[in-house]
Amino acid sequence: MATPPESPWLTAREGALELVPIPLATVTVRDGRAVVEMHNRAFARARLLDEPELMPLVELFLSSEAHGEERDWQAGATVERRHYRLTMARLPHRAEPACLIAFVDQTAEVRTEETLRREMATDSLTGLPNRSGFTDVLEASIARGSDCWAVLMIDLDRFSRFNACLGSLTGDELLITVARRIKGALRHSDTLARTGGDEFGVLLNIEAGRAEADQVARRIREALATPFRLSEYELRVSCAIGIAFGDGAVTDPEDVIRHAQVAMKKSKATKNAESYQTRALDTAREEFAMETALRRAIEGERLNLVYQPICDLATGRVTGFEALARWTDEQGVHHEPGRFIPVAEESGLIVPLGRWALDQAVRTLAQWDVRAGGCCGATVAVNLSPIQLQRDAIPEIVARVLADSGLPGERLKLEITESALIADPDRIARILTELKTLGVTIAMDDFGTGFSNLASLQKLPIDVLKIDRTFVTGLLTDRDKVAIVRAILGLSQALGMDTVAEGIEAVEVGQTLAALGCTMGQGYAYARPLSPDDAYAFLRARNA
Ligand code: C2E
Ligand code: CA
Ligand code: CA
Repeated sequence: MATPPESPWLTAREGALELVPIPLATVTVRDGRAVVEMHNRAFARARLLDEPELMPLVELFLSSEAHGEERDWQAGATVERRHYRLTMARLPHRAEPACLIAFVDQTAEVRTEETLRREMATDSLTGLPNRSGFTDVLEASIARGSDCWAVLMIDLDRFSRFNACLGSLTGDELLITVARRIKGALRHSDTLARTGGDEFGVLLNIEAGRAEADQVARRIREALATPFRLSEYELRVSCAIGIAFGDGAVTDPEDVIRHAQVAMKKSKATKNAESYQTRALDTAREEFAMETALRRAIEGERLNLVYQPICDLATGRVTGFEALARWTDEQGVHHEPGRFIPVAEESGLIVPLGRWALDQAVRTLAQWDVRAGGCCGATVAVNLSPIQLQRDAIPEIVARVLADSGLPGERLKLEITESALIADPDRIARILTELKTLGVTIAMDDFGTGFSNLASLQKLPIDVLKIDRTFVTGLLTDRDKVAIVRAILGLSQALGMDTVAEGIEAVEVGQTLAALGCTMGQGYAYARPLSPDDAYAFLRARNA
């Protein structure tokens, strides 16, 4: 140690430093290095900073002092898990820049603060991070700048009902067990939090790609699938899982959580884990606007139907028309049925829309009969959504519409899809049987894309299979499609059903289908969907 310089502090030689219980040292800058000149035993005991670590601090201090910024210069330092506040003061009257450094041990304060913060960020029931703790962890993950993470939000189904029936003590027990099981499905590097009453959040590291998040979601569902045994109850708990992926564009943890929650809402409906699509929020907003506009359009009868001819593939004669909904809104924007029908289905608007379409189509056919001075020779096919079959009294509605128009049921075809059969096949079978007594023809639409099994098909009173467009497009160059179409045709022959191929865009495809044994077809090769007048003219010209 060097001789004490003529500083008022240090005139009493080294011993003076020892009188002070806090760690102290004097440092000079020599040849660009911080050199500890003197230190007391407290400094040595605490094994505080070594010279290389001191230099940047001293430099910072000297420069801030040069700029006249701070007089009482302080910085934090953590050594061997103890926390110090470091205060520096310039030693005056020295040839080389020198300063006195004092370290104040703040470990106890910092630890108390940490404990408090931890407590505030912890859910007392499960001991997991709570919403605020989860946000902190997420924030740190975002700050690291890598996109290799995903957030899963998990919401338990029917939890409030459990709580109400079993009491909150059992509810608490259930939550703790659920948390334990979810944790068991995670890896060490993942973070589980309880972000709300019955809502959990998971932060995952997904170095191996997004599929990893789906795998974890599956493991969580499996972990919850075994019934829970709590007091004398056995409970089955299912959950909805929404996933949001790390994405450089999203920097606010709250946004990430909200995105995963949007996906979670969707998961409630689909019963699958769903991931957030960047535009899902916008889409939800758009769909809501569309729903409002569509409701007005239905009320104001601003929808209309177009009619696509269905032709006999052997003779080219028109056997009927499929009625398809069209909607142009008040701003003159044309909406595709592929977009607005799903919105109508989701909102329930499909019920009034479907009733209107049925009535309109039958009325139009009756008008064609009047113009033809007798039966015009065509049928009309109307699409029925599965939602209508579930919610509306279809047989009664159909009976009334037919009675009002005076048309026999044989002139009306109803197109249903395979998905209509899933929810309650027995009920649908009864409805279809009732419809058959009215003489109505039933067609299975989009055949081959759904899930219905052949056994149920056989039991239902179905007259026509419509081969979905996906098998018809590109038929001539795809052997697999030919094989599928052959199989469907074989099946329909065995069951005594007619077949309509959809989406025939080239005459050669129609010819090939006819050669394979398909009886009818529709598609741009014959005609696009037409206005009622054009459709009638097409019918007269073709069947003359
Ligand atoms: P869909 O029942 O399968 O109707 C056939 C769709 O294929 C129609 O689309 C039609 O315009 C289109 N199409 C016909 N020929 C061709 C072709 O050669 N090539 C191609 N690429 N497409 C062809 P659209 O009119 O856009 O209707 C889409 C879907 O919306 C319909 O599919 C149907 O599921 C639904 N939809 C339309 N109107 C109604 C309705 O009044 N009620 C219900 N429930 N659904 C409807
Ligand atoms: Ca259809
Ligand atoms: Ca179809």
